[in-house]
Amino acid sequence: MNVEEIYKDAKALLEGHFILSSGNHSNRYLQSAKVLEDPKRAAILADALAMMIKESNLEVDTVCAPALGGILAGYELARSLNVRSIFVERKEGGMELRRGFEVKKGEKILICEDIITTGGSAMEAASIIKKLGAEVVAFASLANRGFCKREGTDITPKSECKLPMDTPLFALDDFTFEMYTPEECPLCKKGSIAVKPGSRNN
Ligand code: ZN
Repeated sequence: MNVEEIYKDAKALLEGHFILSSGNHSNRYLQSAKVLEDPKRAAILADALAMMIKESNLEVDTVCAPALGGILAGYELARSLNVRSIFVERKEGGMELRRGFEVKKGEKILICEDIITTGGSAMEAASIIKKLGAEVVAFASLANRGFCKREGTDITPKSECKLPMDTPLFALDDFTFEMYTPEECPLCKKGSIAVKPGSRNN
């Protein structure tokens, strides 16, 4: 399965000249939510991710996603793994388990995102799950931005990665982009104007 092609077909992988949330410029941008716009496509991706997890013989009781970005990916993955699906959400700065969702002591939880960049939100979700007495057995995401090491690859995690080394990360593919400071951006030097994805028609 060519994950990059699927993202391109869904217009979830954009090529051009973009301003990233870090302020840096890049020639590529991932608009993660777009790949889940078509439920059939979402199911294909989640089934492939579920297959990787099943093949590792990892035991999972429940998938937990950090809202909002992870909810659709988490729900689809839970459907494919035939387990429970819950989410945590941001409240006054921290993450909380709300809406009547509960976890049991020792319950095996997989934290699922649509995309892992540094893993910050995933770690916040993991921290609240552990505080409630459950166990975080793995992280999963459809796309990995290449800062963290996913199962099946032997890249060295970048210093930006917040995920622990002793817990596996399952992801379908790595999406590493070239990034430049605005001053050093070769696209700017050519006279092109960078756009913020998500604004207007980007
Ligand atoms: Zn630029």
